[in-house]
Amino acid sequence: MRIDDLPIRDELRGQSPYGAPQLDVPVQLNTNENPYPLPEPLVARIAERVAEAARHLNRYPDRDAVELREGLAGYLTRTTGHAVTRQQVWAANGSNEVLQQLLQTFGGPGRTALGFEPSYSMHALISRGTGTGWISGPRNEDFTIDLDAARAAIAEHRPHVVFICSPNNPTGTAVAADTVLALYEAAQAARPSLVVVDEAYVEFSHRESLLPLIEGRPNLVVSRTMSKAFGAAGLRLGYLAADPAVVDAVQLVRLPYHLSAVTQATALACLEHTDTLLGYVAQLKAERDRLVDALRGLGLEVTDSDANFVQFGRFADTHAVWQAILDHGVLVRDNGVPGWLRVTAGTPAENDAFLDAVRLVIKEL
Ligand code: PMP
Repeated sequence: MRIDDLPIRDELRGQSPYGAPQLDVPVQLNTNENPYPLPEPLVARIAERVAEAARHLNRYPDRDAVELREGLAGYLTRTTGHAVTRQQVWAANGSNEVLQQLLQTFGGPGRTALGFEPSYSMHALISRGTGTGWISGPRNEDFTIDLDAARAAIAEHRPHVVFICSPNNPTGTAVAADTVLALYEAAQAARPSLVVVDEAYVEFSHRESLLPLIEGRPNLVVSRTMSKAFGAAGLRLGYLAADPAVVDAVQLVRLPYHLSAVTQATALACLEHTDTLLGYVAQLKAERDRLVDALRGLGLEVTDSDANFVQFGRFADTHAVWQAILDHGVLVRDNGVPGWLRVTAGTPAENDAFLDAVRLVIKEL
């Protein structure tokens, strides 16, 4: 029996699932995770908080995750200098689920979403998964957003949802606030549509968060995650900040009790240790910059990066280079951008292993 023999929805036929390889190799620099394990005092605090939650697992968790949203609002307020309230924050199992809830609410059959590609592949996949038509918008050769072309695409297609990924995955490109504002205006002029700014990597950026732009713009949403800067990808905790009406709207589609008591307890413990966790960010930014310089020093092209990863190239046979680096024990990512590969900034030792592998591989090219 093959998938296509089953009575699945027509639009899913022939599609591939999200599939970053999970290979057991010594150096894994392919999914933009934080390479540092959680510090022991935090592990102990998680155990304590989860033990307390376990005493009440006979009951459903707080459906509105009030304490957690309060904590996330506090984190956003502290780090952006822009006051955010719990009513403006919503949380789910990873920002992927946040994006899915937004598309279930603002997209869906008969509606479309537009993103500027190459970008995070899940924007298109979650759109399709929610029955939302996907429109691939343009980017410049250097992967920045071409404002005129972007405005023209919005005016032509009048999408119901517009994705702006900043810093952008897989290129690392940050988007200026002026550009976001111009795209928001264009999207509102075409029809009242939702503009989603995906800031999964913003803690690594040279630029400020775009979060203050939500003020007075009810159709602008900023999505965030604890998977990257917080180093808690295994936790599955993403969140958004927007007008309280957007938070009310996603209640229409969220599954009741979607965030388990264990998840809420763990995320709250992580928020208690924000300063320690974010302590690694400075180190990872320095390593990211070191990767950029070293790869350029090897004569490779590197896209300027505001994230915890670096896009490098260009290669005639991208897949062969990916495989050759893997043969040296280092897993990087082939995102399907012709000519380019992406490496996540790891520990200094992991980055050294990666650079050694690249040196050997390009000699053989
Ligand atoms: N947005 C972007 C741009 C990403 O790269 C990722 C993870 N690769 C996510 C969202 C989703 O992250 P998570 O579901 O772990 O929060």
